[in-house]
Amino acid sequence: MKDLIIIGGGPGGYVAAIRARQLGMDVVLVEKDALGGTCLNRGCIPTKAYFQNATVLQTLAKLSEYNAKAENISFDLSGARERKNRIVAKLVSGIRDLLKGYRVEVVKGEASIVEPGRVLVDGEEIAARRILIATGSEPAVPPIPGVDLPGVITSDELLELDAVPQRLSVIGGGVIGIEFACIFNAFGSRVMVLESMPDLLGAMDREIVRRMGVYLKKQKIEVHTQAGVERIERQGSTLKVVARGKKGTIECNADIVLLATGRKPFTRGLGLERLGISCERGFINVDENYETSVPGIYAIGDVIKGPMLAHVASEEGIVAVERMAGLDRRVDYDAIPSCVFSFPEIATVGLSQEEAQSRGIDFKVGKFLFAANGKALAMGETDGMVKVIADAGDTVIGVHIIGPHASDLIQEASVIVKNKLKVSDVIGTVHPHPTLGEAFLEAVMDVKGRSLHSLPKV
Ligand SMILES: Cc1cc2nc3c(=O)[nH]c(=O)nc-3n(C[C@H](O)[C@H](O)[C@H](O)COP(=O)(O)OP(=O)(O)OC[C@H]3O[C@@H](n4cnc5c(N)ncnc54)[C@H](O)[C@@H]3O)c2cc1C
Repeated sequence: MKDLIIIGGGPGGYVAAIRARQLGMDVVLVEKDALGGTCLNRGCIPTKAYFQNATVLQTLAKLSEYNAKAENISFDLSGARERKNRIVAKLVSGIRDLLKGYRVEVVKGEASIVEPGRVLVDGEEIAARRILIATGSEPAVPPIPGVDLPGVITSDELLELDAVPQRLSVIGGGVIGIEFACIFNAFGSRVMVLESMPDLLGAMDREIVRRMGVYLKKQKIEVHTQAGVERIERQGSTLKVVARGKKGTIECNADIVLLATGRKPFTRGLGLERLGISCERGFINVDENYETSVPGIYAIGDVIKGPMLAHVASEEGIVAVERMAGLDRRVDYDAIPSCVFSFPEIATVGLSQEEAQSRGIDFKVGKFLFAANGKALAMGETDGMVKVIADAGDTVIGVHIIGPHASDLIQEASVIVKNKLKVSDVIGTVHPHPTLGEAFLEAVMDVKGRSLHSLPKV
């Protein structure tokens, strides 16, 4: 009998398998499709490969700023797709090698749970002391008339297009919608985003979101908020998206309509109902050990409630198996960084200003614009700012960055928020010059009214 069967080889499942082996467990990992899950095959990595294509095109579009010239610039999406597929294949085979190196037994097939301790994979039974469900999520398709029309697609299919659509309508202004809007706009599509809520990007800091709205407009991406899509119709070769907007009906003609309306947990075929595993809106309920309502069966990642992010799935996988091994570890959900790979990038960790307000926290804010940062100026990437929120005791409780390399800059802020470091800890840390990181330092200094490269406030 094995110690642990993990169902699902995404960033939650495969990372948990490696950590479990490090802790001396005998592990079987079952994956029905490709190792790496959504993240590697249809999510984080493919989109970031395209984001790099888009970044290159963005740079080419402003070559004159760098006194450079290029003629006959063209872009071939099918070539970019091949590049993306090569990157994915390399990473997937890297994971296969890692699992082999760690002597994780990988079984290809679709798993269902017979009872605690027993899993069936394509007719073969595997027994283990514990079972960890890491089956992830899939796109949630809204019940809008016309969603089944050809050309109305989810992110899975958008990543497989071999030609850039002239007109792209994006339904949903969350992270995935905004990333694809920016990427395909840079590829040459005319992009419209329709979001039913009053703001884009869900619960992010409103000031950062408002700025993003300005930058999207600057890129000529048309955004409608409070625009609930009522139907999609086909008219010849055109898809017509009809939404109810603030000032009446909005009609948008498109060649491709992207449904970016969220994701839902994937649990089909596992046998959860039969086992009596408690779920809420499809998400599996777990306790602090990531154990479900049925003893011996655990769950982590997108299939449980919480941020649907690869690094969260991995951390939950690590913590779940560490707790199985008797270690006392927890995921710090108050210090989860999250990034939007848009133009410009957004990255945040900790509380937004609105969250700090609603929790009744006495807080102070420090800000610094990239327009005043030497490195950003040299790069020609001056859009954006760093915003730092500290409580009355000067502990940094939130950092929000919109601007160049925000996704890299957030690492320092994550260490600070996670470890409840104080403004003085950052101010006393020398930051190299000239770097984008100095903008973060200046924003932290601004909490105390001490930013050196902002004009005095009085
Ligand atoms: C377009 C897009 C972009 C994204 N970008 C980012 C990003 O930049 N950063 C970020 O952090 N997150 C991003 N995400 C989210 C990220 O991909 C997910 O949060 C992450 O993959 C969740 O990991 P997981 O291990 O829980 O599940 P998954 O990665 O979904 O893996 C689950 C695995 O389980 C397998 N499986 C399911 N059922 C069974 C079964 N019965 N038997 C065997 N195998 C089974 C599936 O085939 C799959 O391989 C993105 C997602 C999308 C769609």
